[in-house]
Amino acid sequence: MTCETDVAVIGAGAAGLSAGACLRAAGVDFRILEAASAPGGRAATDTATLGVPFDLGCHWLHDARENPFTALAARLGFRVGASGARAQRRLHLGARFADADEKAAADAAVDAAFEAVLAAGRAGKDLAARAVMPAAGPFTPLAEHWLALMSAQGPDTLSTRDFALYRDSPDNWPVLDGYGALVVAAGGALPLTLDCPVRGIDRSGRRLKLDTARGTLSCRAVVVAVSTAVVASGRLAFAPALPVELAEAFAALPLGIAEKVALLFEADVFGVAERTALDAIDVADPARAGASVLLRPGGAPAAVVHVAGPAAGALAGQGDAAMVDFAVGVLASAFGAGLRGKVRRARVTRWAGLPYIGGAYSCALPGRAHMRERLHVGLEGRIFFAGEALGREAFSTCHGAHRSGITAARRALAALEPPP
Ligand SMILES: Cc1cc2nc3c(=O)[nH]c(=O)nc-3n(C[C@H](O)[C@H](O)[C@H](O)COP(=O)(O)OP(=O)(O)OC[C@H]3O[C@@H](n4cnc5c(N)ncnc54)[C@H](O)[C@@H]3O)c2cc1C
Repeated sequence: MTCETDVAVIGAGAAGLSAGACLRAAGVDFRILEAASAPGGRAATDTATLGVPFDLGCHWLHDARENPFTALAARLGFRVGASGARAQRRLHLGARFADADEKAAADAAVDAAFEAVLAAGRAGKDLAARAVMPAAGPFTPLAEHWLALMSAQGPDTLSTRDFALYRDSPDNWPVLDGYGALVVAAGGALPLTLDCPVRGIDRSGRRLKLDTARGTLSCRAVVVAVSTAVVASGRLAFAPALPVELAEAFAALPLGIAEKVALLFEADVFGVAERTALDAIDVADPARAGASVLLRPGGAPAAVVHVAGPAAGALAGQGDAAMVDFAVGVLASAFGAGLRGKVRRARVTRWAGLPYIGGAYSCALPGRAHMRERLHVGLEGRIFFAGEALGREAFSTCHGAHRSGITAARRALAALEPPP
């Protein structure tokens, strides 16, 4: 590895790749150091399991009309779908499908929970979502499931203020050929060093010194594009240690849980149209994890079962077999036990268990939403943070990460300029 460079980028997820593309365009000397064996981070498309693209992490172009990846998809020839209408999502209640009245009541319960959390946050209250949610009813598990899909947290650890600072929009378009593949393609050719975890940043001298698995890299500025969990865990350490306000901020923005189970069946066992969406809760067992299911992605005889929040964390803690069992159970309740023996292949994500990721996406803890802003300040005018947690009103998303990488790279470039 080159021992010296102008700018080092740590992490080749959406943020690190966009930072790299910006540095490449500026013509400076730089390197991207990535712990994993492939770029993309939480943007990762698997085509082997189902025989069609399926995203292990991000899949939806949130705020698609403003999302920079929408134009990149068009330029790079990636197919993009349309937002699914909520009315068309089927709802299964554990033993049967909801009828029209139950579906309307369930949607109203989700809306009421979201409105209560947003109203508190917009009023400047930084409370746990649980404190403002309507009294529990039969569809509370669905409301909690949807809050968890948005934040990866349960209502006890979800900040109302943080939730309200996110800019939501009805335009959520799926990248049919894979959002992960799109993110990597959009990065283009970059000077990437893979399998190269950075253990620490020594900031005691005139030049920064990165302690990596492949030796020491000295640089003038660094873009730290790793998850908040990686910094908070000390897996990427700083010497001297981070100032307390920054350390507090990283700890205040943990990554919650969102995981997926992809199942390929021998033949179509659902008899529904391509990309039919299904939500499943168990009204008889409200503690059971809720699930959102995408049936027949790419027309394959397959399903992708998405779980989030603390119930999903408990499930994941029981291991991959329990995750598969849960996912098959959800589908068997809805489409018949006959599908149980027809699973040909399964893949379970483990975002929370990956040491260099550590969860799904960031959400401020109650009372700490204001700490997100601290990450934008950087350190000493030469260490700049990037990643989904810094995505401004698009935090937690892939396009928020992408934009943050560009901002951090521009600041690193400015830091290289001699003072006027
Ligand atoms: C299940 C799931 C579903 C999601 N769905 C959506 C969605 O539909 N739409 C959406 O917009 N977003 C979604 N997201 C969120 C989105 O994927 C992330 O916000 C985004 O990909 C994060 O990008 P990043 O660059 O900030 O971080 P990461 O993707 O985490 O990239 C950081 C990179 O840094 C590397 N790294 C970490 N530590 C070190 C180290 N010490 N040295 C070197 N390298 C290191 C990691 O290996 C990783 O590659 C989803 C996420 C999950 C998990």
